[in-house]
Amino acid sequence: KFDVFTFGETMVLFQAEQMLPLEYIHHFPKQIGGAESNVAIGLARLGHSVSWFSKLGNDPFGRYIHKYIRGEGVDTSSCLFTDEATTGIFFKEKLSPEEVNVYYYRKNSAASLMEPSDLNEEYIKQAKLLHITGITPALSESCYQTVLRAIEIAKSEKIKIVFDPNLRLKLWSVEKAKQVFNEIATHADMILPGLDEGQFMTGKTEVEEIAEALMGKEDKTIIIKLGAKGAYLHTKNEKQYIEGFPVKQIVDPVGAGDGFAAGIISGILLEEPLPLVVKKANAIGAMVVGVNGDIEGLPTLPKVERFMNPSGDSRD
Ligand code: ATP
Repeated sequence: KFDVFTFGETMVLFQAEQMLPLEYIHHFPKQIGGAESNVAIGLARLGHSVSWFSKLGNDPFGRYIHKYIRGEGVDTSSCLFTDEATTGIFFKEKLSPEEVNVYYYRKNSAASLMEPSDLNEEYIKQAKLLHITGITPALSESCYQTVLRAIEIAKSEKIKIVFDPNLRLKLWSVEKAKQVFNEIATHADMILPGLDEGQFMTGKTEVEEIAEALMGKEDKTIIIKLGAKGAYLHTKNEKQYIEGFPVKQIVDPVGAGDGFAAGIISGILLEEPLPLVVKKANAIGAMVVGVNGDIEGLPTLPKVERFMNPSGDSRD
């Protein structure tokens, strides 16, 4: 029924609009923030059917997140609400365009209580692809077990697994993160690290060496994100750099990775050739950095096509 199943924690985000330390900020516009829901919304905008699961607090913020994501056309019907904990929130402080800090209020949040039995197996089994990030296993031991269970269900049905590491060292130790990332990577069919994450996982420095190490002996697709330079695609038969698109003005670099992941997954679902899939993901990443916010810049399919081919005569 669904093209993609993804799950994780989405929080309410209070983002200061002025460039000041948070103690001097008096008004905080309310938004949402979560890597997996960004990817889900990105995929919905590209025309795919996506189911997103989370455990939310039975509180106004939990309901806000649920309605928001559902309003973007993502299936949220397997989400659970709990009275045992509140929905996580976080604040973003901008001190300069380059210096952005986040303050999490998410420890013991509702999402951190996710456990394997909370997963609706039928939802995963109906999907063509499972999207996993490295944030979810960092939230708690039961979240980590939930990730392993989702992987097990997907594997039993030969559902493709896409792993985006999304390293967050505020959430766990270097040792644990490295061990868990490499464990998930062995199960994944496709891995989408940034260069720093690839270095972190493998201890290698060069792009090609990292890809080789992540691939191991299996037949996987490794795509390493290289910021403005684009990305490096590595499979058994294809090894190539795919150039990024120029961005006139970088407004907000955050969220590019999630848009990129949505582009990759979309291309895979459409069974496009991999170099084209990566090119499209590069285009979406470039479109996202040109717009403020994580989800505001996520395009529809005709919009990406126009961006990739501005002189073309495509109409929508
Ligand atoms: P995030 O900040 O969302 O965690 P990330 O670190 O996972 O992002 P990046 O390498 O920063 O990943 O960006 C993902 C993709 O977005 C890149 O591979 C590239 O295709 C595109 N992209 C990012 N920044 C730029 C840029 N400045 N110019 C053009 N394309 C970009």
